[in-house]
Amino acid sequence: MDKLIITAAVTGSRPTKEMNPAVPYTPAEIAHAAVDCWRAGAAVAHIHVRDPETGRPDFRTELFQEVMDRVRAECDVILNLTTSGLFLSGPDITEKRLQPVALGPEICSLDIGSLNFSDRVFENPPDWGRAAAERMRQYGVKPEIEVFDVGHIHQARSLVEEGLIDPPPVFQLCMGAKWGIEATAENLLFLKGKLPPDACWSVLGVGRAQLPMSALGIVLGGNVRVGFEDNLYLRPGVLAESNAQLVERVVDLARMLEREPATPDDARQILGLTR
Ligand code: MG
Repeated sequence: MDKLIITAAVTGSRPTKEMNPAVPYTPAEIAHAAVDCWRAGAAVAHIHVRDPETGRPDFRTELFQEVMDRVRAECDVILNLTTSGLFLSGPDITEKRLQPVALGPEICSLDIGSLNFSDRVFENPPDWGRAAAERMRQYGVKPEIEVFDVGHIHQARSLVEEGLIDPPPVFQLCMGAKWGIEATAENLLFLKGKLPPDACWSVLGVGRAQLPMSALGIVLGGNVRVGFEDNLYLRPGVLAESNAQLVERVVDLARMLEREPATPDDARQILGLTR
């Protein structure tokens, strides 16, 4: 089996300091969390940005740029910038969502399909997926295709078959989001069976599902994502003190199951990144 690529999703757009005081808001806090996760064994940092004052989800390019500059000054962790734009509205939303691509990270997330997502509709119409794949290819940015349900894989496969996504296609199987596919072993095997044969895949479980989905990802030869974007707890009722603590836990689990964590350079090779 390949080495295990651990992605740390350090802030996302939903968790707040009221939920867990260690949730990072400012570019300095977000960068610090990403570097700590790299020290703990993460190869990839998945980045969202927040309004530094209020902590609300933000999408300003200068905030992404500051996080990138701060992280790159400290380490070689692979940066994966979000293009989810879940809280954006108004005209030109596709262009707004694609702004992080032009900053030249190695990876950007690409949400391929729509779903009811907690209290809102997460809209990813077909022309969005196509425009995002084309833009990422133009900038040499690897798309990480986020899927929240099985039909999303079907949609991604059509882009792969059309040649809009270079091999190997990289998938993040997002499980247990409200109201995406539930985080169960059966569902993970089902999703895995639908992937293109050459896909690299990773799994995330939301909330309490983070640990069991990580264990399954490790033994099934996939990769894993942990961090505050998906889960704020170390154990039921016990908040994690940092993102890095969640990375440390999955590193321990991987070593117990005899999979060595990938370094960023290992991950570049596995994912076919050409910096
Ligand atoms: Mg995200």
